[in-house]
Amino acid sequence: MQVMKFGGTSVGSPERIREVARLIDDGKPKIVVLSAMSGTTNALVEIANYLYKKNFDGANEKISQLEQKYFGVVDELFTTQKYKELGIELINSHFSHIRSFARDMFTMFEEKEILAQGELISTALMNYHLQETGRQSHLISALNFMRIDKSGEPDDYYIRENLQRELKQCGDYYLIITQGFICRNAMGNIDNLQRGGSDYSASIIGAAVNAEEIIIWTDIDGMHTNDPRIVEHTHSIPELSFDEAAELAYFGAKILHPTCVMPAKLANIPVRIKNTMEPSAQGTIIKKDVPKVPIRAIAAKDGITAIKIKSDRMLMAHGFLRKVFEIFETYETSIDMITTSEVGVSVTIDNTKNLEPIVNELHKYGTVEAEGDYVIICVVGDLHSNSKGFGGTILSALNDIPIRMISYGGSNFNVSVLVKSEYKSQALNCLSHSIFTDEK
Ligand code: ASP
Ligand code: MG
Repeated sequence: MQVMKFGGTSVGSPERIREVARLIDDGKPKIVVLSAMSGTTNALVEIANYLYKKNFDGANEKISQLEQKYFGVVDELFTTQKYKELGIELINSHFSHIRSFARDMFTMFEEKEILAQGELISTALMNYHLQETGRQSHLISALNFMRIDKSGEPDDYYIRENLQRELKQCGDYYLIITQGFICRNAMGNIDNLQRGGSDYSASIIGAAVNAEEIIIWTDIDGMHTNDPRIVEHTHSIPELSFDEAAELAYFGAKILHPTCVMPAKLANIPVRIKNTMEPSAQGTIIKKDVPKVPIRAIAAKDGITAIKIKSDRMLMAHGFLRKVFEIFETYETSIDMITTSEVGVSVTIDNTKNLEPIVNELHKYGTVEAEGDYVIICVVGDLHSNSKGFGGTILSALNDIPIRMISYGGSNFNVSVLVKSEYKSQALNCLSHSIFTDEK
């Protein structure tokens, strides 16, 4: 069994939906996980925001706009009267459900339910299209098997048992369609796996059915050696280890959602990234054993704030770091990079929602400086195989750039340096030129 996931752009128009139908109809049994059509989840978020503010006119206008878009899709996608009617019925029923939330009580629960409509619609449209074109497909609802526990983690046992039951009911259909992103929570309410979470769904499903491969179809030919928007002549990386992919997904390479790697890694199921616009391109395969290379890729993460806490009390003291970290924990702010000296510690964060109270509390322990507008430049590779010279290569490439922090040795797969945003492009290019000599 294969699991294939298609993102919002891949199902973003009637033409793309037809293309996906052709791609999946290759005779091999598979579960197909779909995102909402591109733009839909954002529009649903906007609608929910209007409803929170009780701006019913604003919400209704947005709802009608989105509804019209879907009537257009139905009209273009289906060719027979029967399926045009089924399509219209489908859109009517989802949009009257969305409209029913325009009432005084609007909470997080209702918002989650509204957000789920995007994936429910895209999968139903795909299923109708497959049937109209004579392909054997079966739609199963992720709400019947995908579930997170009280701490927001996938409930693996529940998912496996319930997915198996759903699959048994499908009989011998070989194309099974389901939604990415949406799930139920521990209380049974509709919930989701966070924005961009369809990759995660695919990986959880792949692990639950012990798939031979999880294929993430997107609109780029795999993970690249560097950011193709900033550096010329980057190329897609044919093979990556799970650990390297996890580092890269977190840092900038928005191709794969960072959470997606873990379930596949634990179940040891290869993840392949392929390009819907260029299906014959090889893409990137992520798996356990890959030939080691010293440096695999370079990535950047924007919007970083650096915080430095300096204190004479830190000298020879124990427990200082715990106190500092506790403050970040209280404000649910995760730390990305950290460097220490005898009299100070520097950390970086990307979520500055609680920066002010964090800084105020840190003042208890010393002088504090917080400064935004940084980027983390991250070099991913295998430090084991080339521990000599790895740091030297990176630092000499960045010779002309002021570096604020360096983090080496946190894992065997990544070296990170923190520089001001204005140096991002220069840093990525200098590293590329000295590491991947063909990217000059
Ligand atoms: N549709 C959801 C989003 O836009 C989930 C996904 O596409 O992965 O975030
Ligand atoms: Mg995505």
